[in-house]
Amino acid sequence: MPIRILPAHVASQIAAGEVAERPASVVKELVENALDGGATQVIVRVEGAGKRLISVSDDGVGIAIEELPLAVARHATSKITSAEDLHRIMTLGFRGEALAAIGSVSRLTITSRLADAESGGQLRVEAGNAGRVETVGAPVGTLVQVEDLFFNLPARLKFLKKDVTERRQIDELVTRYALAYPHVRFKLAQDGNVSLQTSGSGDQREVLAAVFGVETARQMLTVLAEYEDLKISGYISPLTLTRSNRREITFFINGRWVQDAGLTSALVQAYHTMLMVGRYPLAAVFLEVPPELVDVNVHPAKAEVRFRDRDQVFSGVQRAVRRALLAYTPVASLEIEYPRKPAQFSLSGRSDPSAVEIKPWQAESEEAKDSQILSPGSTFTRTHIPILRLIGQIAGTYLVAEGPDGLYLVDQHAAHERVLYEKFLAQRSSAIPWQNLLSPVAVEFTPAAARLLENQLDLLKDLGFAVDSFGANTFLVRSMPAIFSSLDPAAALRTLVEDFEEDETPFGSEIEARIIARICKRAAVKAGQTLSPQEQKALLNELESCRSPRTCPHGRPTMIHLSVDLLERQFGRRGAR
Ligand code: ADP
Ligand code: MG
Repeated sequence: MPIRILPAHVASQIAAGEVAERPASVVKELVENALDGGATQVIVRVEGAGKRLISVSDDGVGIAIEELPLAVARHATSKITSAEDLHRIMTLGFRGEALAAIGSVSRLTITSRLADAESGGQLRVEAGNAGRVETVGAPVGTLVQVEDLFFNLPARLKFLKKDVTERRQIDELVTRYALAYPHVRFKLAQDGNVSLQTSGSGDQREVLAAVFGVETARQMLTVLAEYEDLKISGYISPLTLTRSNRREITFFINGRWVQDAGLTSALVQAYHTMLMVGRYPLAAVFLEVPPELVDVNVHPAKAEVRFRDRDQVFSGVQRAVRRALLAYTPVASLEIEYPRKPAQFSLSGRSDPSAVEIKPWQAESEEAKDSQILSPGSTFTRTHIPILRLIGQIAGTYLVAEGPDGLYLVDQHAAHERVLYEKFLAQRSSAIPWQNLLSPVAVEFTPAAARLLENQLDLLKDLGFAVDSFGANTFLVRSMPAIFSSLDPAAALRTLVEDFEEDETPFGSEIEARIIARICKRAAVKAGQTLSPQEQKALLNELESCRSPRTCPHGRPTMIHLSVDLLERQFGRRGAR
């Protein structure tokens, strides 16, 4: 076949594969156009999960009647004029292909009126064929209606997910934009049901409440930081509020919703050691960087970006999030669940001791799986724990102590893990004291494990483990960090390798932090190990001076707090004070 230039409508259909991949991406393009057009109000109506109808109307600047054919033409945009403009993009759109692409795979009607125009114009595009512009009566602004999406691409229709999934993606998308543009009134209705409505008052917390619910919004912590060219603001969940996936972690860069795995990892990493494995925070984080430092022209959907200085942005996010978190780490506390029916309440607030369920902080239960809101009503206190008076040890496992506001039970193993972890990190900032072994210890691994270890020898050396390759999958341990000198070198090395094996996507310092956490777990005093009163006291003191004393490096609580108030309720003294 000879080489030919494709007809414009074919080129548009090809582009549509990326720009208009699914109903939610169509909604995205239309909402972005409305925002670029200066809308103060955006109304999104969806029917049939976006396959029957997607309609987005705005009260923005509108489009001149004579420009309507251009608006739906390929590579036609009012947002940039030259290649240089690509380096200073301040609008969400700039590629000039969304309307053309969408029009090539649906029946699209665009109706628009400029503020000072007497009437509006309307243009219909069907599978890429534009009709004639008609003059119509219309409110100021733009209305785009997309009917029968992919009617001419049955294969694409088949690739769509179940309706509930497509609907959810639209919900998620519009709520994200509502969060990022609190000054704009958003309304979203799917099949006549309004799923989101914001006031446009500019109050981000209010939108947060509309998106996550009032209770969750109330608990979210504020992030606010500025590092050189980078401004960071937004909301993150406290440790007590988690999800089983990363879907509620959202980033905006200069008002654009981006999906960047690196940014997400950076944020999750900031929670490192404070969340249970498999739990993820909620977050809506807004970054502002000078447009020339970020390239948004990476992919037609514009959801990916490239930073000139990735590390700076990532570490900025981590620092900002970490700071917000450390200021608010809650005390692990007990929640007592009372029987549902008030009639069963006795004077003591309960009728039957067996009906009382005591949940330690972050306990997993089926209902609590999706949002773990424990110790409701408690306010978040500062990260440091109060000075504790040691009472003693019970079950060879827990230290009992009194604080200004009640009783504390400290898990000696978890607490020691935390103490060792922070000690090691503190040493890490200078050189880590290490100790040579009297005679090097040889350890043998499987070929796969050996290859993993081989790649990490430098990192290990940094941490005070001098390990040399010793032929066929065998390694020699020559030195260990002094703080772990009590550990069996072979066992310690195996612990490390297990960690490499588990780690699918090592990210920067994450791998290092995990290694340290693992070793600390091994080196910490065990449950069931009797400690002398001096040792108990020393452990408590060391814990008091930790930066994050309330959780072990793996995210489990180091302590449980029984407040005086809770004791009084349990003893039926409530109200007696
Ligand atoms: P892009 O947004 O990349 O410029 P689009 O195909 O999405 O490309 O839109 C083409 C042009 O149509 C835009 O540049 C803009 O001038 C105009 N336009 C589209 N939607 C709107 C809207 N809601 N309000 C005002 N102008 C719009
Ligand atoms: Mg656009």
